[in-house]
Amino acid sequence: MIQEVGPEHVFDNRFEPHECGLDDYVLHYAQGGCLARVTHVGGADADAGDSGEEVELPTLADLPRPPARLTYAFSLGERRFFLALDDSVSAPRGFAYAPVSWLRRAEPQHLLFAVATGSQLDRWYRANRFCGRCGARTELAPRSREIVCPECAAVVYPKICPGVICAVTWCDGDDERIVLTRYAGRTTALWALVAGFTEVGEPLEDTVRREVMEEVGLAVKNLRFYKSQPWSFTDTLLVGFWCEVDGDPAITLDRTELKEARWFSRAEIPLERTGDRTSLTGEMIERFRLMGRAAWA
Ligand SMILES: [Zn+2]
Repeated sequence: MIQEVGPEHVFDNRFEPHECGLDDYVLHYAQGGCLARVTHVGGADADAGDSGEEVELPTLADLPRPPARLTYAFSLGERRFFLALDDSVSAPRGFAYAPVSWLRRAEPQHLLFAVATGSQLDRWYRANRFCGRCGARTELAPRSREIVCPECAAVVYPKICPGVICAVTWCDGDDERIVLTRYAGRTTALWALVAGFTEVGEPLEDTVRREVMEEVGLAVKNLRFYKSQPWSFTDTLLVGFWCEVDGDPAITLDRTELKEARWFSRAEIPLERTGDRTSLTGEMIERFRLMGRAAWA
């Protein structure tokens, strides 16, 4: 998954008031993308999740002029990442703004994770430049990751939206099946699992039951937590559950949200997710394809 960046790139997001050094990475987001140098390394199969693109990020030394508003974001191993909160920075030669969602397929994975995580922090900082309570201009707290209002003392913390991924299964002897869905309105949508955001006041287990009922009209039982995953592209923390259909397995499709949903036997599961090394959805589908009900045992 996207957060699995290896032991040499351990993620540390404790806030410290570090000064940005010349060797530190600078993340800047503008024009719907992140300032990066993307090199095509050729020939790989994009549909297998390997686009053959390599991404590099600028360090402070790479930038023609230092940004005026730099704040420490996080570290991966020995390397520090800072966010430039300026509206614009002067881009070094060869660097341009690459869409964050498109970078999902690039290497190396730890820089991809940095770009995604930084984008969530960047959205949060930029969305809270003024106090939502009194309208005054806010300030960054000097020693913690908080945005504070000097007028009314409001404190704003980073925004994380929980959501669930639901692997709905049906097993009878050797016959093991899973519900895969495809979103409406996206021409290139991959097969996915039922998923949705948690509503205010709702425990995660109820989100699973509600989303499965809304999207495919199935009741479920025997919910089991699998893993969670930060999905910073949408400010989300995704929580993966296995569950079993309870009663009638006939699917009733929510056509406002989905184009398609049906039961797949393990042999029928499309291989389009086999090379997906970033998403929890991909890992769960592939795990069920390989292991069936042993996926959660
Ligand atoms: Zn205020």
